[in-house]
Amino acid sequence: RVRELISAGARFDMKDGSVSLTREGAHSRPRILHAADATGEAIRSALVEQCQQNPAIEIREEHFLIDVLGQAGNPECYGALVYDARSHQKIVFTARATILATGGAGQLYKYTTNPPVATADGMASAFRAGCRLTDLEFIQFHPTVLFTPEKQRFLISEAVRGEGGRLYNIKGEAFMAGYHPLKELAPRDIVSRAIVSETRRTDSEYVWLDMTHIPKVLERFPTIYENCLQRGIDLTRELVPVFPAAHYTMGGIESNTYGETGLPGLYVCGETACTGVHGANRLASNSLLEGIVFGQRIINKVEEILYRRRVDLRELYRHFDSSEVFQPQKKGMEPREVRLKLQETMWENVGILRDEAHLKKAAQTVRDLYDQIERGDDELAYYEAINMLTVARIIIQAALWRNESRGGHFRTDHPQRDDLRWIRHISFVNC
Ligand SMILES: Cc1cc2nc3c(=O)[nH]c(=O)nc-3n(C[C@H](O)[C@H](O)[C@H](O)COP(=O)(O)OP(=O)(O)OC[C@H]3O[C@@H](n4cnc5c(N)ncnc54)[C@H](O)[C@@H]3O)c2cc1C
Repeated sequence: RVRELISAGARFDMKDGSVSLTREGAHSRPRILHAADATGEAIRSALVEQCQQNPAIEIREEHFLIDVLGQAGNPECYGALVYDARSHQKIVFTARATILATGGAGQLYKYTTNPPVATADGMASAFRAGCRLTDLEFIQFHPTVLFTPEKQRFLISEAVRGEGGRLYNIKGEAFMAGYHPLKELAPRDIVSRAIVSETRRTDSEYVWLDMTHIPKVLERFPTIYENCLQRGIDLTRELVPVFPAAHYTMGGIESNTYGETGLPGLYVCGETACTGVHGANRLASNSLLEGIVFGQRIINKVEEILYRRRVDLRELYRHFDSSEVFQPQKKGMEPREVRLKLQETMWENVGILRDEAHLKKAAQTVRDLYDQIERGDDELAYYEAINMLTVARIIIQAALWRNESRGGHFRTDHPQRDDLRWIRHISFVNC
């Protein structure tokens, strides 16, 4: 796959005639290839260019997935109902194979590294169509996110710590040795909790990340340098304030490693999928790996899929029940306000440290928001808010049930890992 990406135009950093490898959190050896500090972007732009040049692929921008199309009493996928945000039209796309690659749920949290589109739409629509959502209590909080007033915050890559970046609390004390033998390169959940613990102990809002001593720091991390500089921080000379933020959704639409969901005709890949390969705590850089490897496996089977299935349009329209998708208009709380309130409650009560009382409080807030939401004038905002509430409800319930701590799920009232009772997955099905 790496060779294919290179021939598709992705340019990775090279060393001594081979791809240069770096080490990140909880890795036992350097194994991560990189394109300076924007590896995902290098892969994305190479693939997008390939798609744009391929006459068999039609790209429709600003088209928003509302729902996966199925049939009552016949759990199969026949395409998708989509909202065109430019024309404000709803369009039915029928398909013998539908692949969801809609990303994660980072926007459920007030502070996140994820873009505004990470609103769990694919997960919620697959759930409504009958797919299982699994492992959603496991949310990864990235430890070193630039501490700024913005809600979507800038990520300082773990590769910085892989190259020698050090963490200090506000008093200037190096603290990671007290939390884990791997120090700064401990697993992400441990570094995040250590940072929360240090900020509480020192009554501060952030810790410092020191990159000043990293050789060729400008050459290796140009994007991070530019972004810090835009906020008035010169990382070659100054310490950078960081605090954790929601970063990655380990759970999602349950699928095998061929993207199959159990709903014939519906396939998933990338962060919206839950193949189980990340367990309770994804390792750095395994996400791009997952998307590239398992995404390709779906395509490898495409001829077989297309050959096997037929979609009967008349049948589809006969069974389409619009009342399932569109709730009646009522007066209540604007979707945008619902979104803000949800993000706040998830950050406060379902974050890095959880306990029963806070989780129950969040569950009640989500119930109230469901009751209060109105459709308003902005359809997109409404769909996103409903999807976020749907998935938030599942995250909270799973976090309540799992009364132990493991990976990205930490319960202060059940801080131990309980292998006897909890080596198992929690799945939700809409019934
Ligand atoms: C700042 C940052 C840095 C990261 N760095 C790394 C890294 O170095 N290595 C690594 O392995 N992982 C990294 N990750 C994680 C990784 O980038 C993501 O997990 C990965 O991009 C997910 O890919 P995806 O294709 O599943 O989803 P995304 O890349 O999130 O793409 C989802 C797409 O679906 C679209 N979409 C969403 N909802 C809808 C809808 N309703 N209708 C239509 N379209 C929709 C979105 O607009 C978007 O285009 C990083 C993540 C972030 C945020």
